[in-house]
Amino acid sequence: MGKRRGRERLESCCSCGRTIPRDKAISYTMRSRFSTDLPTGDNVTAFSENDVYYCISCAKHKGIFEKKREQAQRRRERAEGF
Ligand SMILES: [Zn+2]
Repeated sequence: MGKRRGRERLESCCSCGRTIPRDKAISYTMRSRFSTDLPTGDNVTAFSENDVYYCISCAKHKGIFEKKREQAQRRRERAEGF
């Protein structure tokens, strides 16, 4: 017998750098907004999304679970609005 674990994907926590298997990692989408704020008034705003991973203790420490819940709720509200 012996279950083959397959190829486990590893991620490193973006806060403490610890290596964690992906199924234990907490993924979080960081959203950053860039705005040029040109004096001409031609503002160019760009969004960038970046998936990062946290280990469970860092996720707890940084309140990632709450943020994820907020994000999910906001997404749901937006979906219902249309
Ligand atoms: Zn960590």
